[in-house]
Amino acid sequence: MEKIPVFQLNDGNSIPSLGFGVFQIPNDGATYKAVLTALRMGYRHIDTAVAYFNEEEVGQAIKDSGIPREQIWVTSKLWLQDYAYEDAKKAIETSLTKLGLDYIDLYLIHQPYGQLTEAWTAMREAKEADKIKSIGVSNMTPKIWKKWQQQGMFDEVMPSVNQVEYNPYFQQMELRKLMAENHVTLEAWGPLGQGNVELFNEPLLQKIASKYHKNIGQIILRFEHQEGIIVFPKSVHEERIKSNQAIFDFELTSDEMDGIRSLDRGQGSHNPDAPGVQEMLLNAFDVHAND
Ligand code: NDP
Repeated sequence: MEKIPVFQLNDGNSIPSLGFGVFQIPNDGATYKAVLTALRMGYRHIDTAVAYFNEEEVGQAIKDSGIPREQIWVTSKLWLQDYAYEDAKKAIETSLTKLGLDYIDLYLIHQPYGQLTEAWTAMREAKEADKIKSIGVSNMTPKIWKKWQQQGMFDEVMPSVNQVEYNPYFQQMELRKLMAENHVTLEAWGPLGQGNVELFNEPLLQKIASKYHKNIGQIILRFEHQEGIIVFPKSVHEERIKSNQAIFDFELTSDEMDGIRSLDRGQGSHNPDAPGVQEMLLNAFDVHAND
């Protein structure tokens, strides 16, 4: 098992640069099994969210793994319905309870719409109270980022990360420049293009994979790692969980990096700037349906 390198965030905390994502894994035993498998295979970073409805099983797997709490990085995310100050405070407590943890390593504003400054205030306070170690945002495009920055939202505390869609077809060049200027680390959601078959059939990736005796997923994740981006591929299959983290025993050359950079199409599957996204998301996930 290779050691997973850490990246240092702008608040001084060190985050494992590769983790395990649990979006769309149900809370019916499947999340428990996948997270426990991942932890046993050496992952030390789990990415969940209130809107994934599986924080309980993430927490139970962490507990049962027997791994000391401080060795595992746990990220969760506040959902859109809870951005009003009092709601956000309550939602943070609920996440802590569901995860069964005294603190959460990283908490994100999951979607950049609505009462963001109220949510951010509640998160800043939770960070001061040591209930959350790092705070960040997600799905912020350059346009959305600039709007909130100009309104002073980040004057007190700069987000540590911005978690956005990223894969070789969507390399977020403009956003990365903006984030670098602000010392904000990019996290990739959908680092494997959410299993995009076209991506997995790219001849260049196949060629590089055979050179290193690695699979396509490993080449994609290694590329992203060398770009300085945090990744947390999701899989429910043991073989993939195992192979997706075995990317630290080889290095892509600068020509290979340039080659993969040229696959960028500048467009992803989700456009947070599009009209109606907030309503679409609110309709898709109701985190209070069972309250
Ligand atoms: P990924 O890019 O991680 O792709 C996951 C898909 O790829 C699954 O269908 C999986 O199938 C398949 N897969 C996994 N490994 C391999 C492999 N080695 N070869 C071929 N196929 C593979 O997509 P996600 O959307 O899950 O993104 C990762 C994480 O990012 C999420 O789990 C979540 O934590 C986070 N996220 C955050 C969002 C946000 O708005 N902030 C939005 C979306 C995701 P199988 O499970 O069957 O192996």
